[in-house]
Amino acid sequence: SVRVRFAPSPTGPLHMGGVRTALFNYLFAKKHKGTFVLRIEDTDQNRYVEGAEEYIKEALEWCGLIPDEGPGYGGDYAPYRQSDRKEIYQKYVQELIDSGNAYYAFDTQEELDKLRSEAESESRTFIYNYTNRLHLRNSLNLSAEETQALLDSDTPHVIRFKIHAGETFRLHDIIRGNISVDTSTLDDKILMKNDGMPTYHLANIVDDHEMAITHVIRGEEWLPSLPLHLLMYDAFDWTPPQFAHLPLILKSEGKGKLSKRDGDKHGFPVFPLEWKTEDGVARGYREDGYFPDAFINMLALLGWNPGTEQEIFSLEELSQAFDLNKVNNSGARFNPDKTTWFNHQYLQQKSDEELTASFQDILKEKGIETNTEFDQKIVSLLKERANFVSDMWTEGEFFYQAPSSYDEKSFKKVWKEDTKDILNKFLSFDIPNYDSAEEIQAKVKDFVKDNEIGFGKIMMPLRVALVGGLHGPDIPVIMSLLGKEEVKNRLDSLIS
Ligand code: GLU
Repeated sequence: SVRVRFAPSPTGPLHMGGVRTALFNYLFAKKHKGTFVLRIEDTDQNRYVEGAEEYIKEALEWCGLIPDEGPGYGGDYAPYRQSDRKEIYQKYVQELIDSGNAYYAFDTQEELDKLRSEAESESRTFIYNYTNRLHLRNSLNLSAEETQALLDSDTPHVIRFKIHAGETFRLHDIIRGNISVDTSTLDDKILMKNDGMPTYHLANIVDDHEMAITHVIRGEEWLPSLPLHLLMYDAFDWTPPQFAHLPLILKSEGKGKLSKRDGDKHGFPVFPLEWKTEDGVARGYREDGYFPDAFINMLALLGWNPGTEQEIFSLEELSQAFDLNKVNNSGARFNPDKTTWFNHQYLQQKSDEELTASFQDILKEKGIETNTEFDQKIVSLLKERANFVSDMWTEGEFFYQAPSSYDEKSFKKVWKEDTKDILNKFLSFDIPNYDSAEEIQAKVKDFVKDNEIGFGKIMMPLRVALVGGLHGPDIPVIMSLLGKEEVKNRLDSLIS
């Protein structure tokens, strides 16, 4: 049965590309009734960031992508954190040494740096490969006794993978198709560092094998490592999983891939959750009021398409429709406007009760007393035009607080010589039933007729008085919601 994994390194916040990788793995697993594994790749202790593992889990859970197995989730293949699996890597790297596929290299950092800068001065690049290794201090050139003596005396060393040069290696990627590589272009990558910790390459291959992973779905940045990984499977004599490398996520305009900075530029930090940075708190999709299902829906269409016109998909529907063969092999352009559009669509689908509850959180933050019956009226009135719940505050603040100032342009536009008179007349004009916007509307019509003025003569100044500017819903609706007293007070304020 299908087993896939999301294998982040806990080196900081999860960015959008990472969440998309997790999503595609999740969808593929669900589609095939398989298992979605979370594995924490924390062997690089220099890049380890405290709290990042918790952050990753919280981010996945916010998105609704709950791992079936992983640290804290249980599973038959535990431990799922690489730092807890050191002995396993040691055992397997020994196997590669014994079979002649890996070797000890004793070169010091200084020696290698020197070779690198020498090569650089001759406009070459130094790589540790099948020719250079013949002249370096490694167990391929030393006798067994010499090697053992160096190991016994704790001489610093690494273990490298021995690439067999001069072969054409053919490989297959589900998204990229067939690829062939000349093995002479590859270098002998380090598998185990001097501190006994495996590198990404070793730990990744060993764990995918040990955890019975059937499909590796990951970002395109790992495609260059694929030949090495497949050669390692060969060296172990293991059947490799199938591979699918997902296209890059590109900036919304111009060239290049999306980075954190582009996210910020659009007011869209790429983090789905709050991530505390040294200089405070970076906002993420959650903090900016995106709904997880809208965010996920948007991400799913970055690089994949269903082959139909359908755009709105629940997670369940995505799991049904998802197909790795329909993932594009060219970069997917991130579109912040489309992301907002998705949120708007999802907002329309939410119940007024649910929206009111979130809206009331905002009201409380602003120190405003809540009243569910009233607040819900505001929500259903403003919903259609809102992209975010917070828009209801931006667009509807005047329902809770009288305008503290009037928009100057609007004021100048509506304030005429006779405005004060008209408003004064209107103040003494009786509207008996303030509960119904229709009746207010009818009454205002009477007022306009009786005084032989244009409709705008009263409506526009009224709007400025009640809202502070010339925007907002219909005036009779606003009046009925504010009530007689409040309307009177706000008119008085404008006149005085
Ligand atoms: N730890 C790697 C990363 O952070 C995993 C790459 C892979 O999926 O093989 O992206």
